[in-house]
Amino acid sequence: MNIILMGPPGAGKGTQAAMMVKRFEIPHISTGDMFRQAIRQGTELGLKAKAFMEEGQLVTDEVTIGIVQERLAADDCKAGFLLDGFPRTVAQADALAEIINTLGMKLDAVVNIEVPDEILFFRMTGRRVCSQCGATYHLEFNSPRNEGCCDRCQGSLYQRDDDSEATVSNRLAVYSSQTEPLVRYYWHLGLLKTINGNQEMEEVFADICKGLER
Ligand code: ADP
Ligand code: AMP
Repeated sequence: MNIILMGPPGAGKGTQAAMMVKRFEIPHISTGDMFRQAIRQGTELGLKAKAFMEEGQLVTDEVTIGIVQERLAADDCKAGFLLDGFPRTVAQADALAEIINTLGMKLDAVVNIEVPDEILFFRMTGRRVCSQCGATYHLEFNSPRNEGCCDRCQGSLYQRDDDSEATVSNRLAVYSSQTEPLVRYYWHLGLLKTINGNQEMEEVFADICKGLER
């Protein structure tokens, strides 16, 4: 299956993606994760992305489209893919359509996770991420068994720089001006599956699976 996972920052895309890739056995392609890894490794891509990410702005379309184009051409994507956090602009969506077409693929579904803004704020400011395996926790809604320590690999948990209160507001504004128009874009193409993300994680997952079966 070739799936796009959409939704505002903090909607639970990464959390659901971790479950979906196991169920559907497809690679998880998160542009945010790719940028964070590039920053940690100090690569040229990381240098290009860093300032935008710190301010909660989008990395340029040219850079972002380039990394997705390369990633989708890799062998493991022949079995399908789960795009998380891409596309985020109409230009990216248009470019994706062309990339997919050139690779002889087609999109099966766009899963859009909806969560009210006031909840997104708490989800992001309370998010903690494992520095080793990337697993996501929440101080209140999904806390690790031992404070500051990953349940799976015992790695230390950290707060993303862009999950600070000031940056979170910017990211929500950027989402509504630049990314939200894509909901209509994919609705017009008949690909949109709207999911209520304001429920328990397992319930969200069950709804996504039901939506994809239809
Ligand atoms: P995104 O990838 O869309 O930015 P995440 O999957 O990282 O979102 O989730 C944001 C935060 O909200 C994380 O701290 C996560 O543990 C928490 N979270 C995810 N889904 C739910 C849910 N259904 N209910 C409560 N908290 C959730
Ligand atoms: P995420 O991990 O999806 O929350 O993304 C974190 C940050 O990475 C965003 O706030 C952007 O700065 C950058 N980013 C991720 N995906 C994209 C994209 N498709 N287009 C532009 N910037 C992106």
